[in-house]
Amino acid sequence: MAEAAPLYDTYSRAPLRFERGEGAWLITENGERYLDFGAGVAVTSVGHSHPHVVAALKEQADKVWHLSNIYEIPGQEVFAKRLTEATFAEKVFFTNSGAEALECAIKTARRYQYSKGHPERFHIITFEGAFHGRTLATIAAGGQEKYLEGFGPKAPGFDQVPFGDLDAVRAAITEATAAILIEPVQGEGGIRPATKEFMKALREICDENGLLLILDEVQSGMGRTGRLFAHQWSGVTPDIMAIAKGIGGGFPLGACLATAEAASGMKAGTHGSTYGGNPLAMAVGNAVLDVILAEGFLAHVSEVALVLRQGLASLKDRFPDVIEDIRGEGLMVGIKAAVPSTELLQAIRAAHMLAIPAGDNVLRLLPPLVITSEEAREGIARLEKAAESVRAARARKTA
Ligand SMILES: *Cc1c(COP(=O)(O)O)cnc(C)c1O
Repeated sequence: MAEAAPLYDTYSRAPLRFERGEGAWLITENGERYLDFGAGVAVTSVGHSHPHVVAALKEQADKVWHLSNIYEIPGQEVFAKRLTEATFAEKVFFTNSGAEALECAIKTARRYQYSKGHPERFHIITFEGAFHGRTLATIAAGGQEKYLEGFGPKAPGFDQVPFGDLDAVRAAITEATAAILIEPVQGEGGIRPATKEFMKALREICDENGLLLILDEVQSGMGRTGRLFAHQWSGVTPDIMAIAKGIGGGFPLGACLATAEAASGMKAGTHGSTYGGNPLAMAVGNAVLDVILAEGFLAHVSEVALVLRQGLASLKDRFPDVIEDIRGEGLMVGIKAAVPSTELLQAIRAAHMLAIPAGDNVLRLLPPLVITSEEAREGIARLEKAAESVRAARARKTA
């Protein structure tokens, strides 16, 4: 059935068919309930079918869906004002996805250097293990061979160095360098947080060399780590930031945020998008932001994260043969498996729970930010069941 579908073979899909979602739960066609600790890869930030967000979408659907950026779009103005008031940024460009937000960030940085009389400065320093999307520029930025292979020459202008290696960053800077691009917490790469010191040093290096600091908070942003953006933990502010995933709560939406100075090269006609910032997306984005900016919401994220973290620490102690390490920030958690992570993932699914694979033999836990402490404990109970079954299966194999 699924095998015969005329779809590209780009995804190896799990044989699960969900029909409905409620908060942190997904319900299959035959009524089985799964605890969703993947949230569509950190997307359904306020849970499935959040009533406030559903109402906003329905209300806008009755008015107008699409206009074009030929015209003024009031929802964009409101949303951009709220985003800039809540962040370092003064300017916002809306996109439909994370990769497009990164494309805008890359173009903004290059164009800034160009407009300052440095067209030769178009190189961007990036980090090993990074993930920035699947367009031709963003696979070059991510630098992962598995995503670049067979797609022709790698787009020029991306110089990659080891994550956390300041000397390598300094050594990579040339007359052609425009910016440094980093995820404050690497997601796809296996939930690897950059240290505060590293973030601070990058900011200094940028300031000393006339470079722009670009952050990719597509996964780590919108409250995921317990602050609105992960970089706030370090006290460092970027010049440009790409966001997406959680900002739309499941509606395709991204944004590139920048200081007025960093965005100063992006004049009329330099960039555009047909759908970016359309009225439906703006209605949903504003509604998601209502929920995330509500008083106490981020404190709730940190509280639940603590419950989850304590439970995971205890699991790691009791199942060192299955779980090697727990890492991350807030509700962006990585379980480094001591067995092949796919084995653990299968067992987690068998316990009717969802997690997301990542690099470095890590499984990501990225639950909706609205999960209750009770649901966090339910997650721990299911993970325990999964760890037990992995241990039992291994014992049977060696017996
Ligand atoms: C998912 C992701 C992207 C790409 O977003 P898309 O919406 O899939 O284009 C970019 N950067 C990071 C850190 C991501 O997690």
